[in-house]
Amino acid sequence: MINISNKSECTGCSACYSVCSKNAISMVTDKEGFKYPEVDESLCIDCGLCDRVCPIGRRDNQDISFDIPIAYAAHYKNDEKIWYDSASGGAFTAITDYIFKHNGRVYGAALNDKLVVEHGYADNKKEALKFRDSKYVQSDIKDCFKHIKRDLKDGKIVLFSGTPCQVAGLKDYLRKPYDNLLTVDLICHCVPSPRVFEDYKNYIETKYDKKIIHICFKDKTLGWDKFQTPRIFFDDGSNIFNIDDSKLWALIFYSHLAVRPSCHTCRFANLNREGDLTIGDFWGVEKQHPEYLVPNGASLVLINSDKGKEAFKEISDNLVCSLSDAVQALPDTLLYVTKPHSKRSEFWNDYEKMSFKSVTNRYLDLGKKNEYKRKLKRVLRLPFRLIKSIMK
Ligand SMILES: Cc1cc2nc3c(=O)[nH]c(=O)nc-3n(C[C@H](O)[C@H](O)[C@H](O)COP(=O)(O)OP(=O)(O)OC[C@H]3O[C@@H](n4cnc5c(N)ncnc54)[C@H](O)[C@@H]3O)c2cc1C
Repeated sequence: MINISNKSECTGCSACYSVCSKNAISMVTDKEGFKYPEVDESLCIDCGLCDRVCPIGRRDNQDISFDIPIAYAAHYKNDEKIWYDSASGGAFTAITDYIFKHNGRVYGAALNDKLVVEHGYADNKKEALKFRDSKYVQSDIKDCFKHIKRDLKDGKIVLFSGTPCQVAGLKDYLRKPYDNLLTVDLICHCVPSPRVFEDYKNYIETKYDKKIIHICFKDKTLGWDKFQTPRIFFDDGSNIFNIDDSKLWALIFYSHLAVRPSCHTCRFANLNREGDLTIGDFWGVEKQHPEYLVPNGASLVLINSDKGKEAFKEISDNLVCSLSDAVQALPDTLLYVTKPHSKRSEFWNDYEKMSFKSVTNRYLDLGKKNEYKRKLKRVLRLPFRLIKSIMK
């Protein structure tokens, strides 16, 4: 029976929870806000299935054997607003267009009406709007894997998109390949804590004395390639953007203070991709394709399987895309595991004792003085970045 003694060995993918026919496993939230399986031994029949579907045991982050994938620079072709509203170049919408054309169903991550990030499904373009934009919080899979299995058995064409560990969880849960399943994994360097996100929303609502109705995690007003600042929308029609309070979530995300422990030993930061296709930001796109560096953003699309290759022939009808040199295009985040913040444990100790504002003030670079420090650091790092890019 599944027993998580080391938290870095569980991504919270929910495969074990989903496979248990006795409903003996619950996904229980720990004090950092991440979900882990817990077994009710009175219901467990010790069939061992939960251990068998856990993807962690079968993935080895020391495995460096891989084929260089086919890589494309791309952006959505059919609608400029969709391209702009997407986190990168809108490659995801081009994939969903292809699925809906074949009467399929799309599974992805959305904010629910309580602004909690969870996976759900959509049967048409309008419903799929909720998946657009990267929600920089770990998404809860809930019962999606079970629903996907039922859909696949009914012969429905299904697209599942998620972080690589979620895609791995689904594939291992299904235990056999399905021709009618297409999977897309994101280039993902880590997922932050849903608990801290909840506290962040509460902090903002209390301070502004307004209800948040939507958060855009990656607003492109300042340009897609600029520091990603969320925009927070309130129920009175106002919003905040590019001020300390709205930037705070991006700072928490990029600080790596509140990241799921398994992200720091990620088995998926390599070229053995879980998805038939991989999508992410094409940082540095201007080096190979100067025409793609526009404020709306560019997607990197990797083709990882024959199924992905076949599907991409049609998907590319919805994209402006160019073949890229994959070696140059691959970002560090795809190849290296994200290191934890050096003060991660102190942060969590203080988190239990201090207010949200005090603890974030203590550990994050907030305010004007720190803004200057950050800028100075960036300038000082410039020569190293130049040397790195020349070496690449
Ligand atoms: C936590 C996180 C970290 C990321 N880190 C990187 C990175 O380091 N480098 C990089 O190049 N790209 C990263 N990405 C991916 C990138 O931000 C875009 O999501 C991706 O390029 C797709 O953008 P798009 O324009 O094609 O489509 P969009 O329409 O913006 O697509 C959004 C897609 O992301 C999925 N999604 C959104 N939030 C989540 C979530 N919390 N969990 C699972 N799936 C989610 C949706 O289901 C949908 O498939 C990250 C995404 C997330 C969610």
